[in-house]
Amino acid sequence: MPSGRCRRCPECPKGKKGEKGRFEPSTPRTEPAMDVRFDLPEADAFTRPYWDAAAEGRLLIRRCHAPACGRAHHYPRECCPRCWSEDVTWERASGRATLYTWSVVHRNDLPPFGARVPYVAAVVDLAEGPRMMTELVDCEEPAALRPGLPLEVAFRERAEGVTVPVFRAR
Ligand SMILES: [Zn+2]
Repeated sequence: MPSGRCRRCPECPKGKKGEKGRFEPSTPRTEPAMDVRFDLPEADAFTRPYWDAAAEGRLLIRRCHAPACGRAHHYPRECCPRCWSEDVTWERASGRATLYTWSVVHRNDLPPFGARVPYVAAVVDLAEGPRMMTELVDCEEPAALRPGLPLEVAFRERAEGVTVPVFRAR
């Protein structure tokens, strides 16, 4: 990756300087330490509004306001991934989505996922357009899942003050 480019959108031709180290690999371990969790986000100044909204039960997406674009995107980026406009703001999503694809996870050695198996990792299509990686909850019969299944957002507190958006059938 060329130095000095935005770490969130390394494809961005504007070469915005991102913060240092966000996606750099952590120190290699032979096995995960017991106190390490792999399910919690690392909020920073840019993503703080997203996590604060999630804690209040709102799902935010980013929308471009450039003429002839107007597209929404997710995950959040500072510039539009379609047209590179910086005229992008947070917007509350409807929370409605449809199921695109999924996988029932029966084994995950990264804590704390091992204590949660089986769970359903999914990719959903938000009503506003963006595709989002998430988890399906309240899913009693994974065999009954099908593409296009109508979903709605829900929220789960994973640690004190850390809430993540998930989805369930509606
Ligand atoms: Zn755009």
